[in-house]
Amino acid sequence: MALDPETFDALIETVRRFVSERLRPLEGAVEEADAIPADVIQEMRDMGLFGLSIAEDYGGLGLTMSEEARVAIELGRTTPAFRSAFGTNVGIGSQGLVMAGNDAQKSAWLPRIASGEIITSFALTEPDVGSDSGAVKTRATLDGQSYRLSGTKRYITNADKADLFTVMARTSEDPGARGVSAFLVPRDLAGVSIGEPEKKMGQKGAKVADVNFDDVVVPAENRLGAEGEGFKIAMRVLDRGRLHISAVCVGVAERLIADCVAYATERKQFGKPIAEHQLIQGMIADSKTEALVARAMVLETAAAKDAGKDVVMESAAAKYFASEMVGRVADRAVQIFGGAGYIADYGIERLYRDVRLFRIYEGTSQIQQIIIARETIKRGG
Ligand SMILES: Cc1cc2nc3c(=O)[nH]c(=O)nc-3n(C[C@H](O)[C@H](O)[C@H](O)COP(=O)(O)OP(=O)(O)OC[C@H]3O[C@@H](n4cnc5c(N)ncnc54)[C@H](O)[C@@H]3O)c2cc1C
Repeated sequence: MALDPETFDALIETVRRFVSERLRPLEGAVEEADAIPADVIQEMRDMGLFGLSIAEDYGGLGLTMSEEARVAIELGRTTPAFRSAFGTNVGIGSQGLVMAGNDAQKSAWLPRIASGEIITSFALTEPDVGSDSGAVKTRATLDGQSYRLSGTKRYITNADKADLFTVMARTSEDPGARGVSAFLVPRDLAGVSIGEPEKKMGQKGAKVADVNFDDVVVPAENRLGAEGEGFKIAMRVLDRGRLHISAVCVGVAERLIADCVAYATERKQFGKPIAEHQLIQGMIADSKTEALVARAMVLETAAAKDAGKDVVMESAAAKYFASEMVGRVADRAVQIFGGAGYIADYGIERLYRDVRLFRIYEGTSQIQQIIIARETIKRGG
């Protein structure tokens, strides 16, 4: 159920202030340290950010998708790594449990996920399995009242601090998506180990690492849904996650456009602010137009999802357009800033690197194109 408008407006105002007064001044330091300060994480917990999407019954804020998208747009106006700190708890790390968990599983985990006491991760990708995610090789073999889990998951966001993983593993000889099941795997089970965080292009402060399962004994009651439903659960989680990521892309684009306008109004060449040169105006106009289109796509799709409509195609289209759009906006921002756009002090080159990831994770742009075409053909247009 939606929050009453006054409470929601107050939440948006609080998040906006937190982003502009608390997070933005820390962007450079987070990049340098490749870590988010512990006191900032605690403030995020206190604001309820870890439980945005989790029902109030389990201690979350219970936002609708439309409300969550609006909050994600606000959070997009700073280094995306800040959002990543709680993003897995709000999205891919918790939503398998929210969508397919039974009451006992939800009661056991959701309150601590919503409060941020524990961190969750979503473990689908493997060394040999990326876009073709139905082909997972990690095995879970039933042995009495437990499964024995073995395999390696790769590039898992927040693996370094996660307490609970949603793991997709093969439970039958069927080599396709129907042979995959989903499991809740606590990090403290014997045989779970985490690799060293990867060095990466951007989004410093948000870590990814391998997660290894070496004959881990997972109680059968930790399976989410029935055997063979794991891939379907993963796809439902990603449908929702894509909309959240699209909203973040809109926020980053709006931030970059505001930065461009401020710089172009200040910076003078040929005797006047560069904002008065029409070729600069053309870039600002293109960025603004595309950001408006993406915002409309995200909010319309979120409203349709809240109304119970099938938005598989629309979520993929929003992710495809918004993630490509923010890449173009970031590229134009570097151009508008000229040399300064390439220099670290101005933060534009950092966001340029940060946004590159949005076209890759939670399904690459090519995978979104495949989904959009498949669903459009299925619907007859
Ligand atoms: C920073 C980061 C964080 C991540 N976080 C997580 C996480 O938390 N959990 C998780 O499970 N995974 C995570 N991932 C993994 C991510 O989802 C995958 O990297 C992504 O889905 C692509 O898979 P891949 O890297 O194996 O690329 P591949 O699948 O090998 O793709 C390589 C290229 O081939 C293209 N391609 C593949 N198939 C087709 C096709 N049929 N038609 C046309 N082109 C195709 C792709 O679009 C891409 O351009 C993360 C990755 C990164 C980099």
